Amino acid sequence: MYCNYCGKVIQDDANVCAYCGTRVGSSVARKRLVRPRNGRKIAGVCLGFAEYFDIDVTVVRLTWLIASFMTGIGLLSYPIAWVVIPEEPLLLTAPAAAQRATNP
Ligand SMILES: [Zn+2]
Repeated sequence: MYCNYCGKVIQDDANVCAYCGTRVGSSVARKRLVRPRNGRKIAGVCLGFAEYFDIDVTVVRLTWLIASFMTGIGLLSYPIAWVVIPEEPLLLTAPAAAQRATNP
């Protein structure tokens, strides 16, 4: 992704721009389709879609359930999405921690 302030390419899961030090909010990171670790029911697939498209997770889950019962597509696509969509990065504060380690 790109820093909103200086426009340089930075790490996708970075909290702070490595070039200018500007905080790049979690809202920017959430533009990637990932499966969030908090608030998930099964694998976080519906929650990931909800956050990506900025819609209510209940709507996504209901749509997915209805699609599963009516067509079977939801049932089939859930495990596929589970495998294909990456999990939300665990260490979002890693760049800051690495900076502290090199500059004590
Ligand atoms: Zn920057």
